[in-house]
Amino acid sequence: MNRFEQELKNNNLVCSECLKCNKIVWPPSDYCNKCFGDVTWRKISRNATLVEYSCKNGDCFCIAELEGQIRVIGTIQDKSDLKIGQSLILERCDYDGNEKFIFRAKRND
Ligand SMILES: [Zn+2]
Repeated sequence: MNRFEQELKNNNLVCSECLKCNKIVWPPSDYCNKCFGDVTWRKISRNATLVEYSCKNGDCFCIAELEGQIRVIGTIQDKSDLKIGQSLILERCDYDGNEKFIFRAKRND
């Protein structure tokens, strides 16, 4: 398990950022995938944008974008009135051999 997966298990969402070129390294890694520089780990905002979704047999899967550049595949708990481009909140993340991201719709109220 790498650092990213360990943090996911604790419901923490982190990413690695290159110390040399200051780019987010995604998928997360101990080394930059561009310049092989060392990385630092930091928390990612749990606010996300809905990029795509599809519902089947009562389950909704989505692609969500975090920090305007990181895309993850997850599920959405609150399935009513989903719209591409709407705001989501990462409710929970976990790791059990697979990355798990559970989102819910953010209401504008
Ligand atoms: Zn780099």
